[in-house]
Amino acid sequence: MNRNIAVDGPAGAGKSTIAKLVAKKLGLVYVDTGAMYRAMGIYFLGLGLSPEDEAGITEACSGADVSIAYENGVQQVYLNGENVTGMLREEAVGNMASRSSVYPPVRKKMTELQRTLASKTAVIMDGRDIGTVVLPDAALKIYLTASVEERARRRYTELLEKGQACDREAIEQDIRERDERDMNRETAPLRQAEDAVLVDATELSIDQVVEKILSLYQEKAG
Ligand code: C5P
Repeated sequence: MNRNIAVDGPAGAGKSTIAKLVAKKLGLVYVDTGAMYRAMGIYFLGLGLSPEDEAGITEACSGADVSIAYENGVQQVYLNGENVTGMLREEAVGNMASRSSVYPPVRKKMTELQRTLASKTAVIMDGRDIGTVVLPDAALKIYLTASVEERARRRYTELLEKGQACDREAIEQDIRERDERDMNRETAPLRQAEDAVLVDATELSIDQVVEKILSLYQEKAG
């Protein structure tokens, strides 16, 4: 049996926090696929492309070489040889990633890269289409979600803690727009795979979600 875990769900549900902790407990490599779409976003922004320019983005895809490395167990993302990890969380980058990830050539390129990574080592991979498209044979699939209000509240608190000024309503609106794009795009829309376990984290702590995933994994493995 492969040991891979797929974690999908909407923006801000806590996928990466949870997946990192589960990775440590189970000795899996954590792969953040959103970071790869973000690296593509950096590339398109650097070329001055508009997110609406499907033809330009399609043509540009072949010029972007995204790769992943691990330094002290932490994922580093390289774009054409440059480490862009520090830029990934910028607002403009997230926005471009969300908008450009609707285009099939972008998805095809990222899906291939993600499958190659999973063919080399056991992974816990998080994203939007991991259980449905990228790793349909994953040993365990989780669909992690939480209410829009709770996801916005968590992001707001996170930004405040980092000392960044932010507007709670704008964050909630942004999350709603990202959900809308992710769930309604034609290629690989965000949805729960038939064999995925739904975990609603609205009223669960991080530890509770981690425990739940670990016990689901034990059930599968045992
Ligand atoms: O998860 P994160 O917010 O970092 O992802 C950035 C963007 O990449 C998301 O808004 C989503 O539209 C896109 N994405 C995707 N498929 C994935 C991972 C991320 O379409 N597997």
